[in-house]
Amino acid sequence: MTKNDTLRDEADYVVVGAGSAGAAAASRLAASGASVILLEAGKKDTSMLVTKPGMIGPMHSEPNIKKRVDWGYYTTPQKHMNNRVIPQTRGKVVGGSSSINGLLWVRGNRANYDSWAAEGNTGWDADSVNEVYKRIEDFEDGANDYRGAGGPIKVTRHTQPTEASQQFEQATADTVGVKILKDYNAAEQEGVSRFQQSADKGKRFSSSRGYLTNTDWPTLQVQAEVHVQKVVIENGRATGVEVVDKGGQLRMIRAGKEVILSAGVFGSPQILMLSGVGPAAHLAEHGIEVKADLPVGDNLHDHLFVPTTWLMPNALHRGIPTYFARGLAKELIRGGSFLENTVFETVAFLRTSLATDVPDLQIHVLPWAYPSPNQDAPVRHKVDRRRALTVMSTLIYPRSRGTVRLASNDPTAAPLIDMNYLAEAGDRQVLLEGVEMIREIMKSAAFGGNVTSELHPGAAIDSEAMKSEVLNRATTVYHGVGTCRMGIDDRAVVGPDLRVRGIEGLRVADASIMPSIIGGNTNAPSIMIGDKCADLVLG
Ligand SMILES: Cc1cc2nc3c(=O)[nH]c(=O)nc-3n(C[C@H](O)[C@H](O)[C@H](O)COP(=O)(O)OP(=O)(O)OC[C@H]3O[C@@H](n4cnc5c(N)ncnc54)[C@H](O)[C@@H]3O)c2cc1C
Repeated sequence: MTKNDTLRDEADYVVVGAGSAGAAAASRLAASGASVILLEAGKKDTSMLVTKPGMIGPMHSEPNIKKRVDWGYYTTPQKHMNNRVIPQTRGKVVGGSSSINGLLWVRGNRANYDSWAAEGNTGWDADSVNEVYKRIEDFEDGANDYRGAGGPIKVTRHTQPTEASQQFEQATADTVGVKILKDYNAAEQEGVSRFQQSADKGKRFSSSRGYLTNTDWPTLQVQAEVHVQKVVIENGRATGVEVVDKGGQLRMIRAGKEVILSAGVFGSPQILMLSGVGPAAHLAEHGIEVKADLPVGDNLHDHLFVPTTWLMPNALHRGIPTYFARGLAKELIRGGSFLENTVFETVAFLRTSLATDVPDLQIHVLPWAYPSPNQDAPVRHKVDRRRALTVMSTLIYPRSRGTVRLASNDPTAAPLIDMNYLAEAGDRQVLLEGVEMIREIMKSAAFGGNVTSELHPGAAIDSEAMKSEVLNRATTVYHGVGTCRMGIDDRAVVGPDLRVRGIEGLRVADASIMPSIIGGNTNAPSIMIGDKCADLVLG
């Protein structure tokens, strides 16, 4: 795809990856009048698979559909989780993971950004990033001190929440003693609330829709189906990138000013290492000349959730192919189907006994049954055909850290992703306490007798049995971050200005720069990082 006809091979800025962060960075740079080439390995994002929020269900359960938009990565065997090999879905399409994600719009806790700043990352404190978020958003309630209006990303609340999800809000407030919040993306996060989504009038607002489709910068060229192999570094300076286009042709694309890597938590470290920026000994193993010895690929971490599923007739939806087919038919004929919203409806931020200053447990609620015990197998996932509410205990401040490494110096080979999930006992404890809390909430009178029974993992799995069961049931929320860590210490990969240490003309802007993961879903923060990167570049 290109907004202009002839493929260019030189621009002021070359941005690698048209995902959450890359689309935002490229668009903001082009808005300044600079010339920008945005390179994306995936295809265009025009199919209904991307544009309709509810298509995430079929996308995840049908491998043949998923592979059209996914890199298809898996972890290495996870030694603290029964050696499971866990999918690491990543968008390979214009819009990146923001084109295939669950659309949940969550900024995280304000304290997360203040802690980044306290580590020396000046300019990344809550008040500073709030200004960036405000200009990104077009929130349905309009602008206030915390929220923005008129920005490229429409943010709305779920428009058709089921009775079951709404009862969950009251049940949580009654059982845990927290508030029902109108807006968890404002001053306060602790409480229970209706989910906000990056969607409007039944359509997804990916970063690509907000920043690329809905703009028309004459100096921006988006080149899709172009795989970036490495950054070309000459005399300590990034001068461009080497790519293979869809015809298999090797090309060099030159950057007059800077190269910005926004290839995501796996792509950015992989490209850096292939370019000679990474742990020296590891690069030597693969015969790669070292340009900068940096701990690229370290500090990998992610959120995990444990789904519990409850039979509830008022949860309404049924996760079976015929139900999806009927929804699709309704959508095509007159609209208004369940496909117009995210599948998630309610969110809570609560505290376990390990919480310190902020809530350390997130709960995701969706009125659908869920694959049990997990979704590891790359086959069509079957779920129970009955109406059910799935409530997920979610670890938001993992202590465990893993790595991304090269499997080989072949740029087309998948990287080795070792999340090292649940290596730390505290991570297991948060998930287990969350399951116990959910079991208490589900007993609440606020459900009006609608909870028929615990389907998964089932009442037979008591608290003691859950300790081993959690290792089989916990799964990724697809929120990997941290592999090109921002900081001011010797082990940081990029500085607070996102420049790669030791290399001129090269920055990283995506989820990989997060020093520590934010307490919430990672799409909005990744877009914020891309948008803010343009400020840092333009000064
Ligand atoms: C299935 C799923 C559901 C999720 N649900 C939510 C949610 O509901 N809410 C939320 O907040 N977060 C969610 N997330 C997480 C969130 O979407 C990501 O954290 C965020 O999109 C990361 O943004 P990014 O810019 O770092 O990377 P990405 O958006 O993944 O962008 C990276 C881009 O770089 C491209 N690329 C990579 N390597 C190359 C290469 N060599 N050459 C050219 N291009 C390359 C990729 O194709 C991709 O387009 C979900 C993620 C997934 C996968």
